Amino acid sequence: MSETMTVKHQIEDEYLAAYAAGSLAEAFDLVVACHLSLSKEARRRYDAVEAVGGAVLEKMPTATLADGSLEATLARIAGSAPAEPEPVPTADCPVLPAPLRDYVGGGLDAVKWRPVGMGVKQAILPVGDGGTARLLSIPGGCEMPDHGHRGLEMTLVLQGAFLDGEERFGRGDVEVADEELVHMPVAEKGVDCICLAATDAPLKFSGLLPRIAQPFLKI
Ligand code: ZN
Repeated sequence: MSETMTVKHQIEDEYLAAYAAGSLAEAFDLVVACHLSLSKEARRRYDAVEAVGGAVLEKMPTATLADGSLEATLARIAGSAPAEPEPVPTADCPVLPAPLRDYVGGGLDAVKWRPVGMGVKQAILPVGDGGTARLLSIPGGCEMPDHGHRGLEMTLVLQGAFLDGEERFGRGDVEVADEELVHMPVAEKGVDCICLAATDAPLKFSGLLPRIAQPFLKI
């Protein structure tokens, strides 16, 4: 498993910009940080987005900026502060990227999984207000209940893959879903699909059983 693999589904620039500006809720911030640590191409685009953001700030009157933010941005552009996430050491856990290991308190072995039915397990992560983040482990071949979204959902694949319609999402890929999308992701046959999923509003399930289970699963 290489950390420089080609990641096919990258997150859009608008989210990279929001990440650079520090305006994402912690749950989404974590997804973007993990995505960046797994995708060289996303890191390249992030640097470009951050440079554009810095150039925009440069043209704005400094009075509209919080203390130090212009200096901080210019310092980043000048390269005096790290603009890129550290390379991820993978020796101790090849599945969880470093930003995630901080939340879990270790590697995959440290994850406190709770069964949620059909062999699916989840672990809710301690993120602040504005969103929820969870790890999901889905047996290969398992269909997730079809659902819509009341807000934003970001799903990053860490192990295995899932299929959504014609699209395949593998390690490092992110699927972003919003109010427009109803979908039924299916874990690819083979190893369990492990994902990091962040949402900022409860999902809209079509089926009765998932709707009943929903409050208990905090999903
Ligand atoms: Zn969804």
